[in-house]
Amino acid sequence: MADEETRKDGRTCKNAPCSCAVPDNEKFCSVHCASTEHNVQIDCDCGHADCKGDY
Ligand SMILES: [Zn+2]
Ligand SMILES: [Zn+2]
Repeated sequence: MADEETRKDGRTCKNAPCSCAVPDNEKFCSVHCASTEHNVQIDCDCGHADCKGDY
């Protein structure tokens, strides 16, 4: 049961403004987000339609 809850929650991209889900073995949803690892971003330009950080 707890396992199912963890899976439902999922993982999201480590780029702060990005809300995209990523696979368990990935930290970022895209090359764009990976390139922002050491930069603070206000919005996200990963290009995914369901990203809430894309203004
Ligand atoms: Zn994004
Ligand atoms: Zn991302």
